[in-house]
Amino acid sequence: MEDAEYFLSLKWSNHFVVPVISTSGLTKRYGQTDVVSHLDLDVQSGQIYSFIGLNGAGKTTTMRMLLGMIRPTSGYYKIFDGRYKNHEMWRKIGYMIESTYAYPDLTVREYLQVFYHYYQLVDRSMVGQMINRLQLERYANTKTRFLSLGNLQRLGIARALMHQPQLLILDEPVNGLDPAGIVEIRHLFQAMAAEGTTIFISSHLLSEVAKISDRLGIIHQGRLLKELSSEDLSKELKNKLIIDTNDNIGASQLLLLSGNEPQINHDGEIELTVKDSFEISSKIAGLLVQRGFELKKLLPWEEDLETFFLRIINVEK
Ligand code: ATP
Repeated sequence: MEDAEYFLSLKWSNHFVVPVISTSGLTKRYGQTDVVSHLDLDVQSGQIYSFIGLNGAGKTTTMRMLLGMIRPTSGYYKIFDGRYKNHEMWRKIGYMIESTYAYPDLTVREYLQVFYHYYQLVDRSMVGQMINRLQLERYANTKTRFLSLGNLQRLGIARALMHQPQLLILDEPVNGLDPAGIVEIRHLFQAMAAEGTTIFISSHLLSEVAKISDRLGIIHQGRLLKELSSEDLSKELKNKLIIDTNDNIGASQLLLLSGNEPQINHDGEIELTVKDSFEISSKIAGLLVQRGFELKKLLPWEEDLETFFLRIINVEK
């Protein structure tokens, strides 16, 4: 057994389900910099896994390594069980790395027909099906150089899906899509995942992919800082109560005595970090009013996703 196989089989022995993508210590160094550093990642079958990071975080480099476009400096990776020959592997994988490049003088239909032949498909309706599925009907006969960024993304996704792969690796697939487009793509990915397709996507906006994903991995400067499920995400968001009374110093003392940890913010208001701001707000209101404080403001506040993301990577908003 080769090193890589041995290493990954050890990792897998701790898992009930064999992951579709598995990496162990995966590293890519350019010059003196590890742009991807010791990445340990597992993406399970049928999962939608989103890789979130700022520009330059190492997302595309990771995807390029997984697709065999560049060689890792060190570490291992495995796609499926690693036993497929190259050509068999490509039948199982659909991908889109960075922006879609489409031959500018081909129409949308012609472009997809090129890939229909490339994949040696037999179902002649497939090109039409992809055009419908990605809502490109209006542009079927438009040359690709006239497509908007969002429609070019749709075309790239259509190309990646056409041979019905078991694994999709898509770099920034929702980039350039309008809000309605994001919802459509979300439904498309969810339907595909329900049929068993594994989807690994990258994004620099957590809010854009949080609702699509089963699992999220936050990467910063080449390191995977945090992995969490979409259910964990809402638990991790900070909740606060912002309180303003006629006497915030006195109210703070009362809150402190009753076991809270109030802080006075730069507007002179009280901030209380709590588990669930909606649940606790009526208790706090009752306590303050009972002790004679005049309540001017009681505002539940929940951290937004981008603030959470910046907090995890330790960048102030
Ligand atoms: P973006 O969202 O901007 O696409 P990313 O997370 O995909 O960012 P990468 O494209 O993986 O980031 O780049 C990670 C880092 O590696 C960047 O600092 C980039 O400049 C650097 N890098 C990528 N390719 C090379 C290369 N061939 N030579 C040197 N540095 C490179």
